[in-house]
Amino acid sequence: MEKEEYYYKCVQGEIEGKQAHDTLLMSKSKRRCVWVPGPVIVGAGPSGLAVAACLKQRGIPSLLLERSNCIASLWQLKTYDRLRLHLPKQFCELPLMPFPAHFPTYPTKHQFIHYLETYAQRFDIRPRFNETVQEAQFDSTLGFWRVMTHTTEYVCRWLIVATGENAEAVVPEIEGAAEFGGPIKHTSLYKSGEELRGKRVLVVGCGNSGMEVCLDLCNHNATPSLVIRDTVHVLPREMLGKSTFGVSMWLLKWLPLRIVDGLLLLLSWLLLGDTARFGLVRPRLGPLQLKNLSGKTPVLDVGTLAKIKTGHIKVCPAIKRLKRHTVEFVDGKTENFDAIILATGYKSNVPSWLKEGEMFSKEDGYPRREFPNGWKGESGVYAVGFTKRGLLGASMDAKRIAEDIERCWKAEAKHSTTAFAPSLFSLSIS
Ligand SMILES: Cc1cc2nc3c(=O)[nH]c(=O)nc-3n(C[C@H](O)[C@H](O)[C@H](O)COP(=O)(O)OP(=O)(O)OC[C@H]3O[C@@H](n4cnc5c(N)ncnc54)[C@H](O)[C@@H]3O)c2cc1C
Repeated sequence: MEKEEYYYKCVQGEIEGKQAHDTLLMSKSKRRCVWVPGPVIVGAGPSGLAVAACLKQRGIPSLLLERSNCIASLWQLKTYDRLRLHLPKQFCELPLMPFPAHFPTYPTKHQFIHYLETYAQRFDIRPRFNETVQEAQFDSTLGFWRVMTHTTEYVCRWLIVATGENAEAVVPEIEGAAEFGGPIKHTSLYKSGEELRGKRVLVVGCGNSGMEVCLDLCNHNATPSLVIRDTVHVLPREMLGKSTFGVSMWLLKWLPLRIVDGLLLLLSWLLLGDTARFGLVRPRLGPLQLKNLSGKTPVLDVGTLAKIKTGHIKVCPAIKRLKRHTVEFVDGKTENFDAIILATGYKSNVPSWLKEGEMFSKEDGYPRREFPNGWKGESGVYAVGFTKRGLLGASMDAKRIAEDIERCWKAEAKHSTTAFAPSLFSLSIS
């Protein structure tokens, strides 16, 4: 099929669909075919919302596809009750809309979700929910991206990947897991220590989530132990009355990274003591250097370390195998537990659906190019929220992407009928 004919049929399909209550032209794969005049954004988390808002502000409509039934599904469906933003609010706001002044420095997850819902309303962002993108591929003959969901093929000029660094839970295989007999669940399913009151719980993984889940369990009179297999930097969340993150950003304006790392470690030692004494051995590289090189985030302590020091949380080595309600550790010791929580992190799902070999690594699903250059690929594909720099990184990406697409949008509107004509049918997108 010729490019123009295919494009025409897609547009025609959309018009006919509107007139005939969704009895649309079907593409070859029996999916209905819909032309999208602006970018298609995959994922309605904070990153997807941020880029949709920045585009909207520049007069560019976009279509947001979300596999779940709500915006920010990670925050709404997969986080524990006591979660607050780890970083102060000024480092977590999305472009064009600050947090309300009355919000605390570290907003609760409910406040953050409320902020995101208000954000979506303010920019009239209306994602299409329950639309999992199963495949997206650039059709070099047509010069368009073809984005497939279960029912629909969307055809567009620009594709923005916003499925996040936390799209799928990482669940390690543990020998004997089937024998254990008690619940073994990932933190994405953990809500509160209430459900484990009085129980002996082993938490695997000592990132921010693992440390905080241990604290939550203590506060609900459970008895947590924490598996620490690797070295880890634990820093106080605040230093000298300021957030550690803010202090680091400020120091980095004046001093080289290695000196800032040295100062952070000195202050942490003064405030927290020698963490290695309690089983939390620090990596050889400083916290900021390690973050830059590997993306590994330091733990910002919110009270867990004090519980480790007092023995309310026991530190354990890696698991060797499980038996019935028993864990055997690599040092040969065994201990009984009622439940296991896996704070073993998340991974990107991009390689499972994006058929593209250049921009994203097939191994880890992140852009191959290092920050700050990973946001743009070839043929109109973009990535938002893959910087390993949280919401601040996502906001930077979103602004750059909107600026870049605006340039092409304006240029194409001048020179091409295809960029201009579909705007007649932009009713379907926000
Ligand atoms: C417990 C926890 C606490 C955190 N705290 C902070 C913090 O304080 N500050 C900070 O800056 N960062 C924090 N982060 C990092 C976090 O990744 C970001 O805050 C933020 O959620 C990233 O937004 P995102 O939109 O890139 O990804 P997500 O929030 O993961 O959103 C991606 C969306 O894409 C959807 N999706 C995935 N695959 C598909 C598909 N194939 N088709 C359609 N839709 C799809 C998902 O359902 C999801 O809604 C935290 C992360 C976690 C897990």
